[in-house]
Amino acid sequence: MTGSSLTSAPAETLGIDIATARALPKAEVHVHLEGGLALADLLWLAKENGESLPGPAATLFDVSTHTDFEMPEETTGGGDGVGTGGLSGFLRFLDWQCGLVRTPDQAARVAYAFAARQSSSGVRYTDAIVNPTHWHGWRGKEHDLMAAIAAGLAEAEQDGLCVVNLAWSLLRSQTATEAREIVERIVAGPSPRIVALSVDGDEKVAGRTGEKFSEAFTLARDAGLHRTVHAGESSGPEGVWDAVDLLHAERIDHGVRAIEDPALIERLISDGIALGVCPRSNLTLGVYDGWASHPLPALLDAGVLVTLNTDDPEPLGTTLAHDWVETSAHFGWGLDVMAGFAARSIDASFADDSLKAALHADLSETVATARAKQKSTEMAR
Ligand SMILES: [Zn+2]
Repeated sequence: MTGSSLTSAPAETLGIDIATARALPKAEVHVHLEGGLALADLLWLAKENGESLPGPAATLFDVSTHTDFEMPEETTGGGDGVGTGGLSGFLRFLDWQCGLVRTPDQAARVAYAFAARQSSSGVRYTDAIVNPTHWHGWRGKEHDLMAAIAAGLAEAEQDGLCVVNLAWSLLRSQTATEAREIVERIVAGPSPRIVALSVDGDEKVAGRTGEKFSEAFTLARDAGLHRTVHAGESSGPEGVWDAVDLLHAERIDHGVRAIEDPALIERLISDGIALGVCPRSNLTLGVYDGWASHPLPALLDAGVLVTLNTDDPEPLGTTLAHDWVETSAHFGWGLDVMAGFAARSIDASFADDSLKAALHADLSETVATARAKQKSTEMAR
């Protein structure tokens, strides 16, 4: 803990507690279904499929021990050209675990469990990113995979759990033609719950891919699909510029390195482009050294529409509610600031307008109740 803001902050702004973090109705806009498979999911999947684990069950999610593990030849679909360590090794691990999902029923069950875990953090709406190239058992059947996931999410919603929609993510090493065909097929439908086109993966390995995917993202925009783009994590501001100028991004996943370019910050603000920031992911994967150097407060102060997300909660060993508590403590943010994050998460999401309105109404009520509780606690002192 670096804690300069922690020690200098007045007592009432030392962050929110876990109950408040859970109670705030919110959306999560930067989370990967691939990073939402729990350890228990991996164990039952491996057992059901007769697969052995690459390491001890209890430490399977210790990313550092898996950065150089040997994967069978056929599991490298999402990891072409990746090296070892950091983000690349992490992506290879995701490939391995998604390879365990082999039947529509298994895909539906992991999606249902994901929605349940979102709910337990008080997440009421999620745009979940799915990159079918990681799910190597589904090559040529990617739409069947998405339909199976959507079925699990529909059941979850019916059972009163978090509403989860899907952002189909391209891999940076895919070709322009592959990307265009994917969008054409999504648009032709049926594509239940697919509300957005996305691109993720390691920008360092693939280089600039804005131009390559421009046609696909333009097609998506013209067909009414939302657009969200990973940039400004392993790329600098130039990746974010490409996302905005070439890919018509409505939201940037990460985007933290935009802080290095004042003109870009101005552009994000004037175009109302939100950032799906994930500080814990950035610190774990070494994008920043520690909380003190993370640009989240600077982005917030600049007036960018920043949201606070997990990225890959299960392998990172966290939940959204837990990350909200920790982030609020590190930066000395109390209820008002965190309620602002909740409100922006709803605005930045691709939920439909009626759900957004309902979530805002619930948020106002929750904040009013929490403020009243705070006041009575202060008066009792
Ligand atoms: Zn991500």
